[in-house]
Amino acid sequence: MAHPLPASREKELSAEVARVIERDELEPASAEEILTWAIKNFHPRLALSASFGAPDGMALLHMMHAIEPASRVVVIDTGRLPQQTYDLIDRVRDRFDKKVEVLFPDAADVGEMVREHGPNLFYESIEKRRQCCRIRKVDPLRRYLSELDAYVTGLRRDQNANRSSTRKVEIDRANGGVVKINPIADWSHERVMAYVHEHDVPLNRLHAQGYPSVGCAPCTRAVKPGEDARAGRWWWEEDGTKECGLHLQIEEGGSGI
Ligand code: SF4
Repeated sequence: MAHPLPASREKELSAEVARVIERDELEPASAEEILTWAIKNFHPRLALSASFGAPDGMALLHMMHAIEPASRVVVIDTGRLPQQTYDLIDRVRDRFDKKVEVLFPDAADVGEMVREHGPNLFYESIEKRRQCCRIRKVDPLRRYLSELDAYVTGLRRDQNANRSSTRKVEIDRANGGVVKINPIADWSHERVMAYVHEHDVPLNRLHAQGYPSVGCAPCTRAVKPGEDARAGRWWWEEDGTKECGLHLQIEEGGSGI
């Protein structure tokens, strides 16, 4: 199935890159092949966006580093991360000798939000939770992506229904038309874990305490055996997408903006 590009991006992409995206030509390619293609076409205007709270991003960090030691990785410091996530950033800096780029929310936006609604507004309603995610995560990443041509994510199709149609290379219309590359979209969690164990990739130590994915400290808890991996995120919300909005198109309503 062909995926026509928005006219604004068609002008900026090379003919080869545009063809690859429109025709999904990298769908059969391995994660390493896709990353090699991405680095060849976009580095250094390319970065891996990793939460440092999931093994998926750490596997990609290891793969990208092996292909290009100067490959870039970025994490959003929302101001509410658990200590174990900061520890992992330091361990990555030591192990890979990598300068991890850290994004921060706009201080004035956070100050106004907290003054208006208090520091724990996210427990009060889905709207306030999305407001907090937008100010602390979505907006900083959007500003950062406006300076890039492409970024890499650890999205996988089997994570939840919202991600089931994730393409390996696509245009991120919600973020100004930047190219979004999802090399392990067709991987299972088991395959990710096999990779990180085989290569002794450093992981967030909270995984060993029952946290399949680690987000902000007040919005993440451990899950019970057999519970869905996303059950520990925003667990008090009965409805909602369990997404922070980073990976949802605006028109799908996931970002709340
Ligand atoms: Fe705010 Fe929680 Fe979203 Fe973090 S996960 S940005 S604390 S609502």
